[in-house]
Amino acid sequence: MDKMTIQTIKDQLIADRARVEQELAQFSHRNTNPGDPEFSVEIKDVGTEEGDNAAEAAQYSDNLSMEEELEKSLKDIDGALKMIEDGTYGTCKYCKLPIDERRLAARPTSSSCIQCKKTLTQEM
Ligand SMILES: [Zn+2]
Repeated sequence: MDKMTIQTIKDQLIADRARVEQELAQFSHRNTNPGDPEFSVEIKDVGTEEGDNAAEAAQYSDNLSMEEELEKSLKDIDGALKMIEDGTYGTCKYCKLPIDERRLAARPTSSSCIQCKKTLTQEM
């Protein structure tokens, strides 16, 4: 892969990362205590009336799954950025062959080629 393409992807990843972090910050905060999960979801106090607690619980579980999703994206982005740093970006982690650039353009966090991905999905 040429440097220009990698630079473009890197810029995109950094922009994505900032967006994901911003979304995460809306309903969770990064834990600073070592040993705690990296993020925790805040429970919004909707009210004390009957039914409010159910609303809070529903919102909490929504946030929790969204938080998991965002945290996963963050990890994927960090992984891709690390591969760029290491110079291994664009190489399939399973078969070590170059990943199709069109695939990377569509999904810059891809770490496996289409063929390996297919094999993997079929196995599951
Ligand atoms: Zn592969």
